[in-house]
Amino acid sequence: MNLNGLPIAIVGAGTAGLAAAILLARQGHAVRLLERVERLQPVGAGILLQPSGLAVLQRLGLLAECTALGAPVSRLYGTSCQGRAILDTRYHDWQPGSFGLGIHRGVLMTALLHAAQRAGVQLETGIAVSRFEQAPGHVRLLREDAHGDESPLGDFAALILADGTRSTLRAQMQVRQWARPYPWGALWSMLPTSPTAESGELRQWYRGCREMFGLMPTGCTHQARDTSLTSLFWSLPLSEHEAWQASGLEAWKTRVRNLAGEAAEVYLQQLHDPAQLTLAAYADVRMQRWHDGRVLAIGDCAHAMSPQLGQGANMALVDAAALADALGETCGREQHSLDWNAIFARYGDARRDHLRYYRQASRLLTPLFQSNSSALAVVRDIALMLARHNRFGRQHAVSTLVGARSGWLWSGAQKRELHAWKGEREAWE
Ligand SMILES: Cc1cc2nc3c(=O)[nH]c(=O)nc-3n(C[C@H](O)[C@H](O)[C@H](O)COP(=O)(O)OP(=O)(O)OC[C@H]3O[C@@H](n4cnc5c(N)ncnc54)[C@H](O)[C@@H]3O)c2cc1C
Repeated sequence: MNLNGLPIAIVGAGTAGLAAAILLARQGHAVRLLERVERLQPVGAGILLQPSGLAVLQRLGLLAECTALGAPVSRLYGTSCQGRAILDTRYHDWQPGSFGLGIHRGVLMTALLHAAQRAGVQLETGIAVSRFEQAPGHVRLLREDAHGDESPLGDFAALILADGTRSTLRAQMQVRQWARPYPWGALWSMLPTSPTAESGELRQWYRGCREMFGLMPTGCTHQARDTSLTSLFWSLPLSEHEAWQASGLEAWKTRVRNLAGEAAEVYLQQLHDPAQLTLAAYADVRMQRWHDGRVLAIGDCAHAMSPQLGQGANMALVDAAALADALGETCGREQHSLDWNAIFARYGDARRDHLRYYRQASRLLTPLFQSNSSALAVVRDIALMLARHNRFGRQHAVSTLVGARSGWLWSGAQKRELHAWKGEREAWE
């Protein structure tokens, strides 16, 4: 099918933008994907993909490529500095054989990028979109040069904003919105895996809510298939980053050793320079609705949250699939007759409950792992202990983790996608 008419513009070639571009191009839409970065490189932190995101990768036909390079994670296990279990969530409790996938962000990006090229997406890099104008029948995009002069990038049938947490275009939508930088961030690094490491576990250690150290199996990359990697995370308030740098690597290593002991040693020995640890800052983004006429926000641009629940990239993938579904219902219609406001409203209806639950859960849980409060640590430890020791609690925890919940009392989001993923996984096992 080849739909005539104006192309659809997608701004931002991250997880959300690339996945949406592939799916819309495969539906027959002409898609122009505009990315600010000149040369897309396979960089970024290790991320944990959940069954909700893996179901979309399967729909994209990229599951086999990603699972071949990523590392399966069967359990999240976190202990206090005294060795007491705090968090113990097993994918097996959701569905036997299910797992999360620790993956280098660059692997996911490479797989998506190649699929976008195969699908005929017109990718244009080195283009920072500065403004859009809505007019009857189209959206016009503009870019600004170094002298502040604006030039048009073209007219489009619709505009998908997938330009991330710090989107400069979101504020131009006539929609109430809130973006609140989170006071805590994380230092991360990716290092060759210790041969003696426990495989298949995302391991965390906590001292109250104030200190957290984590190790996550991350698999290998397209470029170095023989080197298995582990992602290392250390949580800290952003305001303490300068003091962390000033106090030197050895002082930090002592804190990590005191918290995580032997398991951390082989990774600490590979760190010689503070520059090997990258600081990641995040923000909570909330919008009253995600569309304004012919413009729709998806991914972190629409609903960034802290990575504590490990859902951001998954949400971006699920957004892309939901957008394709909303647009798919108009299949066969002439493009000029499409009612974009109605299509995007349908998308919003499909995503509302799922995104609301994860936004609330993320806001509730993040201070339990990243704050200065001793009281919250006690509340967390008791609540998680009670949850671990009853079936309902374990089910709630694991269904939250896998990305399947759409409310505090009920689960069931993305049933169709997750069902399809289960079938594929069984065939593939
Ligand atoms: C340390 C860390 C760990 C994380 N761990 C996990 C995890 O375990 N699991 C998980 O699911 N998620 C995790 N996340 C979150 C996840 O990485 C993000 O939610 C996800 O990448 C969001 O994708 P996106 O496409 O919406 O945005 P992005 O990946 O930020 O992409 C936005 C793109 O838009 C481009 N852009 C911006 N402005 C413009 C413009 N004006 N014109 C053109 N292009 C523009 C940018 O260059 C960028 O390429 C983690 C995040 C961090 C920081």
